[in-house]
Amino acid sequence: MTRYQPVIGLETHVQLSTRSKLFCGCSTDYSGQEPNSFVCAVCLGLPGVLPVLNAEALKISVRTVLAVNGTVSEDSRFDRKQYFYPDLPKAYQISQFEHPIGLGGHIDVELDGAVRRIEITRLHMEEDAGKLVHVEDGGHSLVDYNRCSVPLLEIVTEPDIRSPEEARLYLQKLKSILEYLGASDCNMEEGSLRCDANVSLMPAGSSLYGSKAEIKNMNSFKAVSRAIQYEIERQAELLDRGEKVVQETRLWDDSSGRTSSMRSKEDAHDYRYFPEPDLPPVRVEAREIEQAWQDLPELPDARRQRLINDHGLSGYDAGVLTAQKAIADYFEAALQVQPNSKSLSNWIQSELLGYLNRDGLDIEDSPVSPGSLGELIQLIDSGKISGKIAKEVFAGMYQTRRPPAEIVREKGLEQISDESALEAVVASVLEAHPEQIESYRGGKTKVIGFLVGQVMKETRGQANPGLVNQLLKKKLGSGGA
Ligand code: ADP
Ligand code: ZN
Ligand code: MG
Repeated sequence: MTRYQPVIGLETHVQLSTRSKLFCGCSTDYSGQEPNSFVCAVCLGLPGVLPVLNAEALKISVRTVLAVNGTVSEDSRFDRKQYFYPDLPKAYQISQFEHPIGLGGHIDVELDGAVRRIEITRLHMEEDAGKLVHVEDGGHSLVDYNRCSVPLLEIVTEPDIRSPEEARLYLQKLKSILEYLGASDCNMEEGSLRCDANVSLMPAGSSLYGSKAEIKNMNSFKAVSRAIQYEIERQAELLDRGEKVVQETRLWDDSSGRTSSMRSKEDAHDYRYFPEPDLPPVRVEAREIEQAWQDLPELPDARRQRLINDHGLSGYDAGVLTAQKAIADYFEAALQVQPNSKSLSNWIQSELLGYLNRDGLDIEDSPVSPGSLGELIQLIDSGKISGKIAKEVFAGMYQTRRPPAEIVREKGLEQISDESALEAVVASVLEAHPEQIESYRGGKTKVIGFLVGQVMKETRGQANPGLVNQLLKKKLGSGGA
């Protein structure tokens, strides 16, 4: 896509992890429960009731604004956004429009070694709507209000994103920050993190934005980048044919891999926003903001930098380990047992995450505890087992949840570092390979690798390779003299 420059802005709805809804005491823990069993007069919008702002939702919102380097408004407001649709019993949504809780901020992503800064326009609180269930062949729909009025924070970026890959990185970083904050469980499949993508194209080299399409209904990171890619190609074809991109909302369909028009600008709603009269302005004192700032936990970028500085990890390794808080916690817990950061980082990335991905497990549910992995690396570092045998031991640990030393003992996998035991094997290998001995003495010293391999084979991988190397050199050097 060299003729056109894609321009992308994301609007992300984050479901906040509070126990109760945004303006009433109803529980948010309705997942898998009977429809319409987690509702009350307030979230159903019955007449004569008053909403009261959930203090926890406000607190999480403030922390999130600060975590993305935004400015918390000391005075923010709620407005009514009018629209008539059955998922909204009041026929308006309580949302923040003119005075949102957060303004500005940014999230940095790294692409091909360069840092790209994505500016954030605003963050605002609002209530979620209910869920419509369309009955197959029934000619009607059902509505479930359990989700109605669950707290959301919407995070809107500037049109700063330039590729599907950058969009994915932004979302992943945002998710990572929200997880470190404990702000949301960020489950895209279940809808606790929902992202709409605004996409337009402009001629390469231009700085004048084209008209955009807004894409909805992506349920995974993969879907977000696929949908944006599809949309870029669709718009490029239109422009190539000399046609115009219409400003509209389009729906992504994951199975066909296409977007289709949902509504054009002409049918866009006039929401008739006006200040919500039932809720007072939201006041956050400067000292509360200061306190929230002090109380912020270590965030992904800072933790990554700390792993680089304190443990000598590469930027790449530290990035992988800190993307998920739970992985970083695992790494640091294992490090307490065996402070070999490089080796731990390799074992976590190659073996542990490989196994967990294969089985669809989160690291919190890892059958191998951080302590056990630390012990395994201890066994390698102290020469008790070879790195190769360690993989076999790891498989056993993963399968049985038992500590590595037990598996090593039971299967008799200790590394053989006893010189006299190895000397006999070395001697028999040399006896069986007179040609290689000759080559070696003729100057082809590389054959030593082959001979070490033979000894390893004889000992089923248990010989200490360094020691074998020494013994072979000694014998080869002296033998013929
Ligand atoms: P609307 O008026 O359609 O609500 P906004 O200006 O409020 O549009 O922006 C909504 C989102 O669309 C923001 O994330 C913004 O960055 C993005 N956006 C705005 N203009 C463009 C454009 N020309 N191309 C791509 N994204 C855009
Ligand atoms: Zn309620
Ligand atoms: Mg807008």
